[in-house]
Amino acid sequence: MIVQESMTIEQKLTILSDAAKYDVACTSSGVARDGKDGSIGNTAASGICHAFSADGRCISLLKVLFTNECIYDCKYCINRVSNDVPRTTFTPEEVCSLTMEFYRRNYIEGLFLSSGIIKTPNYTMELIGRTLKMLRTEYHFNGYIHCKAIPGADTELIETIGWYADRMSVNLELPTADGLKLLAPHKNRKNILNPIRQIQAGIEESRENFGMMGGNKGAYWHTRRKVEQKSITQKREEDALLHIGHKDQIRQVIESKSDKGVGFSNRILTGWEEEKDSKILTPNHRIYHGNQEISSTIESPSVIAKPQGLTMWNQFGGNRGFVPAGQSTQMIIGATGETDYEIVNVTEALYQKFDLKRVFFSAFIRVNEDSTLPVLPGGPPLLREHRLYQADWLLRYYGFEATELLTKERPNFNVFFDPKCNWAIGHLEQFPVEVNTADYYTLLRVPGIGPKSAGRIVKARQMSKLRFEDLKKIGVVLKRALYFITCSGQMMYPTKIEENYITNQMLQLDEKLPSHITNGGITYQQLSLFDDSLMLSNS
Ligand code: SF4
Repeated sequence: MIVQESMTIEQKLTILSDAAKYDVACTSSGVARDGKDGSIGNTAASGICHAFSADGRCISLLKVLFTNECIYDCKYCINRVSNDVPRTTFTPEEVCSLTMEFYRRNYIEGLFLSSGIIKTPNYTMELIGRTLKMLRTEYHFNGYIHCKAIPGADTELIETIGWYADRMSVNLELPTADGLKLLAPHKNRKNILNPIRQIQAGIEESRENFGMMGGNKGAYWHTRRKVEQKSITQKREEDALLHIGHKDQIRQVIESKSDKGVGFSNRILTGWEEEKDSKILTPNHRIYHGNQEISSTIESPSVIAKPQGLTMWNQFGGNRGFVPAGQSTQMIIGATGETDYEIVNVTEALYQKFDLKRVFFSAFIRVNEDSTLPVLPGGPPLLREHRLYQADWLLRYYGFEATELLTKERPNFNVFFDPKCNWAIGHLEQFPVEVNTADYYTLLRVPGIGPKSAGRIVKARQMSKLRFEDLKKIGVVLKRALYFITCSGQMMYPTKIEENYITNQMLQLDEKLPSHITNGGITYQQLSLFDDSLMLSNS
């Protein structure tokens, strides 16, 4: 191991910001907090994530590791103990000072702090907790902080950090327990799920006591529906009205159907016994290889330690809430052999059982020579990652369920089509859809029609019947939608509603892919925070 004594803070930052580039943190801040006297910074609910590095990753956070030393030997990780790389560790004071300096210069909107494991999980979490406490109480930093929790650390330490951070995440690392065993032998699924469960319980408790502070409100469409105690039909009606801006009608729908809720309570999302008994929140997430079931998804709550609730109310309660921007997790895609079907089901189970704000997918990058790692001649599976993000979007905002998107017979997304096109081509019996009469959610399932255009269609057709020219102005992507819709009973062109025909036609369409997928010169270099040489020397 290369040990470097007495590094400057700048040298440490070079190593530790580069080492953090594989952690995904691209997300909006998800919490709104105004500045206040005596503090510096505020957060806007969608305030993070408007700047991206060449490889598409977010750089508006100071994204660093506290240390790149690590006692573990995860095969996929550049910082694993068996690698011979320069190692260094910040002090809490150094992280605070960097955060404040960058924030004052408007380089960043917040801090994303992850870490390797130095000595023990508890030792590392203590250092991180000290850092966050110092930042909030001595430097009075009121901006956004996203902090990774280290599995295996004591619950008190996790809770402390949750009171200072805005968002927390515990990385699931790999979609299945088998994958974790293979590539991260020092970690186990139970140790990862325990802090996730603890944070979830804390968020729920905080949400109940602070109102909107400290909550996710459910990121997954079906979870939100259950939290709000609504049937599918009721939720769809309300969402449709919301998108066309009919607030009075929404109120009427709520009032007329308030006694017809589906009987869930908020507690069911976190309540231990309730969840165990719930038939609806613990749906069949079993996944099969052939006829054999693999226990790959999320373990039953009974094997995860019972959360202990928030114990530090007196110290922190009422200030900012517990993890007010919710929690997220990250899975590496393509390092182990899971299908998209398994990954999407795991994602849905995470949303349902842990009420996560986001599940991130990170295309596997081979940074180590190790026989257990796959060789990927075409580079990291970025297009697959992209398809999974698109599917995640369908789960969260379009009311799709995982089992609608893929099946064990069709376990992977077609890389040539986005998942909604893929679904539509596989469900041609549901098309064509008549745009002048179809309800909002039926429109939303048409390729080329998104929430905005579906809302506009529903609104505009109240005035007059829509024509294809109108749809174009409304923002419908007709080159995709034309195979799936009629206007007043007519298709745009005579086309066959037939799988091969539509597939061939759509293959000729260009899809606008993110630049990090199309850019052949991808380097995975994180943008340097040292482009301005004055930065630290002046600080
Ligand atoms: S715990 Fe594993 S993934 Fe995390 S820094 Fe250590 S070796 Fe890397």
